[in-house]
Amino acid sequence: MRIVIAGAGITGCAAAMLLAREGHDVRVFEAVPEVNELGVGINLLPHAVSILDRIGMADKLEALGVATRELVYYNRHGQRIWGEPRGRFAGYPVPQVSIHRGALQVALFKEAQAQLGAERVVTGHRLVAADDKSPVTATFERADGSRIEVEADILVGADGIHSTLRRLRYPDEGLPRYGGRILWRAVTRAKPYLTGATMIMAGYQDRKFVCYPISRPDADGMQVINWIAELTVDQMPGREDWNKECDRAVFADQFADWTFDWLDVPGLIAGAEKVFEFPLVDRDPLPAWSFGATTLLGDAAHPMYPIGSNGASQGILDADALVRALAANGDPVAALKAYEAERLPATAQIVLTNRQNGPEICMQMAEERAPQGFANIADVFAEGELEAIAARYKAVAGFSKEAVAAKAAKQPA
Ligand SMILES: Cc1cc2nc3c(=O)[nH]c(=O)nc-3n(C[C@H](O)[C@H](O)[C@H](O)COP(=O)(O)OP(=O)(O)OC[C@H]3O[C@@H](n4cnc5c(N)ncnc54)[C@H](O)[C@@H]3O)c2cc1C
Repeated sequence: MRIVIAGAGITGCAAAMLLAREGHDVRVFEAVPEVNELGVGINLLPHAVSILDRIGMADKLEALGVATRELVYYNRHGQRIWGEPRGRFAGYPVPQVSIHRGALQVALFKEAQAQLGAERVVTGHRLVAADDKSPVTATFERADGSRIEVEADILVGADGIHSTLRRLRYPDEGLPRYGGRILWRAVTRAKPYLTGATMIMAGYQDRKFVCYPISRPDADGMQVINWIAELTVDQMPGREDWNKECDRAVFADQFADWTFDWLDVPGLIAGAEKVFEFPLVDRDPLPAWSFGATTLLGDAAHPMYPIGSNGASQGILDADALVRALAANGDPVAALKAYEAERLPATAQIVLTNRQNGPEICMQMAEERAPQGFANIADVFAEGELEAIAARYKAVAGFSKEAVAAKAAKQPA
């Protein structure tokens, strides 16, 4: 089938390669003139890494980042609430990868150009219009204002949280919904902490610090550590922008005494070259993504809070579901409805679960039950309670070990 993808982000590039591998005639049109290494750290969960493995990217991405060994939750006093091994260390066939988002994006973009041909993955073309007929006609605008029309059997909008295709289908939706918290994000070169491959979250809903390494230690023993400081703030400071720099004085005092014997939070905050500010935003789940021969994928379809490390992974899962729907349905319109039926309810549940803090709810519960800390975690949580929270989220987000094994078993050739 002739498939046109708007957006060469993580989702668009992954979808392009997975679809081309099945013999589809795929073209990608990206709005920006040049794809640069933007953003800070991001995580890819094992279910997404196992899909990227099919297009030869799992090992390459692991080499660019860190195979996460464990995820550990702490309270704001630095006391351990819950921890679990991740990825291969938890028995999955593939790793969880912590990586610089820019490095991931550029690696996928270059690989998509290599696998499809550079003339099929082009920049400087912004989707501005699309009908909902089958076949569909999409209109792209270049920087000089000229326009081209492209006919395809399917148009996929992988064009992010401010998706044009989504706006064409839902013109009255407006801006993303503010979740009442601001995230300050940065990377700092620092000495490894804990295992050197541990993702930690400390604090509770209104005051939280997350960090994880995204590079292996250099010769001087230092590694790049991605961190996120998060606070509840009533007013959204302005439209979200992943590249909005800000002054750390705005938030650093809230973490000034977070020096634990296993992590120096004030040191990490002070050591960053640049700090980026990003409000916690998502959008309400939609009633439908597919209209005629067009559909939405990734953040365009289901932007969610960056809780549970799911944003990029869910876009890759969408791409996999689209491949399977097209293999099972010869008619593009029916295939897109089948794709939507699989992925819309699943991702809507994650969007809503993330609004309730996802698996991080254990930190909030620890704060409410033991605000001054605890001598023994068994005094705060009943036996099995923490395991149940972690297992429930994995099931909702589709990365229980059983789900990953089942997906690997039924992947297309
Ligand atoms: C600049 C940037 C930095 C980010 N940094 C982080 C980070 O540090 N950590 C993190 O966890 N997440 C980050 N994210 C979010 C994360 O990458 C996404 O949640 C996730 O990867 C989903 O990706 P996506 O491909 O669906 O959407 P996106 O990553 O948003 O990609 C959408 C792509 O579509 C292009 N596009 C937009 N409109 C059009 C149009 N009309 N026509 C054609 N192309 C269009 C965009 O330029 C972009 O390349 C960032 C996103 C962006 C855009």
